[in-house]
This record gives sequence, structure tokens and C-alpha cells, in this order.
Amino acid sequence: MRLGIIGGGQLGRMLAHAAQRLGIDVTILDAKENCSAGQVARQIVGAYDDTDKLRELAAVSDAITYEFENVPIEPLAALDEKVPLRPAPKGLAAAQDRLTEKTLFRTVGMQTTDFAAVDSLEDLEREFAAMNGTCILKTRRFGYDGKGQARIDTQEDVPAAWYELEDSGPLILEKRIDFKRELAIIAARGADGNEAFYPVTQTHHRNGILHRTLAPAPALSDEIEQQARSYVDKLLKRLDYVGVLALELFEADRGLLANEFAPRVHNSGHWTIEGTTCSQFENQVRAALGLPLGEPMLRGPTGMLNLIGDVPPRAPILAHPNTALHLYGKSGRAGRKIGHITVTEATESKVLKRIDELETLIDA
Ligand code: ATP
Ligand code: MG
Repeated sequence: MRLGIIGGGQLGRMLAHAAQRLGIDVTILDAKENCSAGQVARQIVGAYDDTDKLRELAAVSDAITYEFENVPIEPLAALDEKVPLRPAPKGLAAAQDRLTEKTLFRTVGMQTTDFAAVDSLEDLEREFAAMNGTCILKTRRFGYDGKGQARIDTQEDVPAAWYELEDSGPLILEKRIDFKRELAIIAARGADGNEAFYPVTQTHHRNGILHRTLAPAPALSDEIEQQARSYVDKLLKRLDYVGVLALELFEADRGLLANEFAPRVHNSGHWTIEGTTCSQFENQVRAALGLPLGEPMLRGPTGMLNLIGDVPPRAPILAHPNTALHLYGKSGRAGRKIGHITVTEATESKVLKRIDELETLIDA
């Protein structure tokens, strides 16, 4: 069996590892030579929208998936007649624009924050006043790691936020949520319609970037767990989805509010490699190739810490027991995700203690 992966970052690399363990042949498409995934699998050097390169990828693949949600959709049509693209472009299209994404959430019955499309300074002034509270102005497309966002606390902040983002494409205004915490749920749907759900994960961000996760989310009520599952289930069914999907959530007094989803494996699920019996990466590979999904069983409470910026020395990290180090073969750069650490222990408090120790070590 052969899997083609569009995108050669760390997600592609971890997908390749999972596929290779199953004896599946992997080819990566990425314009950057010797990219993170290209270091561990065959690579076609080419842009995501190069239809010749896409056809070349199709010629050596039984199914194609992607690790990046901003792949241009139109050129993908060159593929679909030849080999299945999973997940299908429907989910990709909805996730690429925060307005269609949040509208979809509402359509399937999920709660979201208040939001409005904003196309002019006048729109922004009007919508900000109508929301009656602090807000965030965001680019509708291509935002990641908190980029393309401006806070608006008072009417006086409105012009600065507008002028900061007006040239970044269409914008959306969102009301800021006073959430209790942030959660994420990852689920997979197979080509046969079977679904698999991972335990709900608590996520912590630092400077808009995912910093650490803890799974299962501590002290999660059954009600919230069920709501998270039902949200992601609605989305999978509505999109007739095949593959892994990650849904980012806010837990608030009125229950869960959906923030955004990723039609792919996600940083909030990296912990599933060590923390469960079938990782998000393996399930994505299985789903893409039409294989049965793995039912992910929890091995124990698991924490994950992102490594951002400089590549740390290995030895001090590896001196810790029950700790797995993942480095992505990327060079260090401020704000760049270059690896992560996973800790699995017998109890949640032990996980937290060790993650705190590792965090101190890395921050030093
Ligand atoms: P990602 O790295 O997940 O792709 P992103 O750049 O697409 O992030 P969001 O997930 O929308 O952006 O926002 C990043 C973070 O900013 C959220 O995880 C949350 O901490 C905060 N945030 C975003 N929207 C809101 C909101 N409406 N209310 C409160 N906090 C918010
Ligand atoms: Mg996010």
C-alpha cells in the first residue's frame, strides 16, 4: 500500500512514521527540499498547487492525504479522479475561512461565540458596538498560532485594529469569551463510517501558540465530555468525513463553545502516540487507505510540552523517566515548533509534576 502526503512538516513526518510501521510506502509533496517529512520518506519537490506534481504524487499513491489545511483546493481536483483524497475537500473548504467554519458550527447545532463578517471600518465600529463587550478581530483565512489577530477592548481600539489588519484579506470580529479553560477533542471517521474518539484534552496556549496539553482533561464532567463528542460527531457526519479531525473548544458557564476545527491531525493530539494504543497519526493513515480504524485505548494520564524556538540538548530531557522526546529535524527559530515532549505516568499529579520540571529545564 502507498500513501501520498501533501505537506512535509512535522505532521507529515509523524504520519510517515505511523504509515511506515504498517509497511506502507510514503511519498511527500513539499516545495522545501529536505523538509521535516522529506527526511524520513521519499519526497517530490513541488508546490501544493502544481498540478503536474500532484499527478506525479497520485501516480505513486493508493490514497492521498494532507497535513496542512491551507492547501489550495482547486488544483486538488486533478487528483480526485485518480486516487481518493481523504479527508475530501469539503472539510478543507469549510475550515479555511473562519466565517464559513463558524457558520457551519451553528448550522449543525454547536454553540459558538458571537461573530460577524467585517469589510470596512464602519462595519467594525457597528459590530463592535453591537457585541457589547471585548472582542478579537481576526483574519478569516490563513491565521495560525494566534497570528492575524487584534484585540479590541474599547471603542478607542477600533481604528488601530482595523488599520493593522485591513490589508490581510477579509476579516471577522469575534466576541471574546471569558472561558474557564480550553479543550480539544480529536476524532476519526473511517471510510466505512465507523468513528473513534480520543479522550478530551485540556490545552494551554502561550503567546497564541499551543504550549502544553493534558489528557484526559482533569475533572471533566460527563456532560461536557458527551457534548464534546456529540459536537465532533455532528461535524464528521455533516462533512461525510473520512480521516482525523481536531476540534478546539472553550469550556464556559453555558457549556462548550466551538472555536475552530482542523481537517487533519493536530498538535493537541501529539500525546496520543505514547498515551493511547492507536495514535491520531495511525488512525489518519488507516482512514485514508480505507483500513479499519483503531479504537484508541488510554494508556494513562499523558502530558505534552511543545518545544518552541531553539533545539534543546537531548540528554537532560532524556534523563527523565517516562518521557518521550520528539524532534522534527527542523532548525531553531524564534516561535517555531521544533519538537515536543510527552510524559505518561500512573497518575495525573505525577504527569503534572514532571511536565513542570521539564518546562523549567527548557525555559532555563
Ligand atoms: P491555531 O494555532 O490553533 O491555529 P489560530 O491562530 O487559528 O490558532 P485561534 O485558535 O482562533 O487562532 O486563537 C488562538 C487562541 O486565542 C485561542 O486558543 C484562545 O486562547 C484565544 N482566542 C481566540 N478566539 C478567542 C475568543 N473568541 N475568546 C477568547 N479567546 C480567544
Ligand atoms: Mg486555534
